[in-house]
Amino acid sequence: MVNSAIAENLARVRERIEDAARAAGRSPAEISLMAVSKTFPPERIREAYQAGQRLVGENRVQEFAEKAGQLRDLPDAEFHLIGHLQTNKAAKAAELFAAVDSVDSLRLAEKLDAAAEKNGKVLPVLLELNLGGEESKSGLEPDSPELESLLQAAPHLAHIAVRGLMTIPPFTQDPEGARPYFCRLRELRDHIARRKLAQVGMDVLSMGMSHDFPIAIEEGSTCVRIGTAIFGERTEP
Ligand SMILES: *Cc1c(COP(=O)(O)O)cnc(C)c1O
Repeated sequence: MVNSAIAENLARVRERIEDAARAAGRSPAEISLMAVSKTFPPERIREAYQAGQRLVGENRVQEFAEKAGQLRDLPDAEFHLIGHLQTNKAAKAAELFAAVDSVDSLRLAEKLDAAAEKNGKVLPVLLELNLGGEESKSGLEPDSPELESLLQAAPHLAHIAVRGLMTIPPFTQDPEGARPYFCRLRELRDHIARRKLAQVGMDVLSMGMSHDFPIAIEEGSTCVRIGTAIFGERTEP
């Protein structure tokens, strides 16, 4: 299985991450690779696992609930939710996932906190920012009262741990089009980090996908989320 297309794709992506990191004067060790397996069956995730991949992103609770049963024998695989989460699925998400990288409202943070408490765990989360102002995308607006109240609420939400920020920039044919958004997310992270807010960690900057991850790395990404370049084109949306 080590010679599968997925193993080769992973090797190529890892190499490109290293190249981009070195070109930017960064250590490749600062950047984690998340394999995004949405729409792909558990066997493909298993192949990635056998090629050494541990961090995996899924974007729907129900879809992952259906796959999870077949992946129980991969105990050290780490599954994160990276898609929009409805509050009525927060309890299920807190149970299924090791982390939720797409928290986009205070209400959702509160639901996840309550659910994580019931599960006796502390759930790491990222705050998702919508920097392009696109109606079609979820995410907190920078400078919004919602983001501010979420940051202020962190000390009261003892069962979630804010670790950083995540964004999906507006799509542009030329990956350079994403750079201003990556740059903005980093500046926002630095700005929040400087405030030294209680219980707010800002170590993680999750940004960069298949077509723009080298640019995200130049702009400071600490986690790139790669689907297509590892698993191939998706046939479903
Ligand atoms: C699908 C998805 C990705 C991966 O996208 P690719 O272009 O296939 O690499 C990354 N992040 C999120 C939130 C996604 O939904």
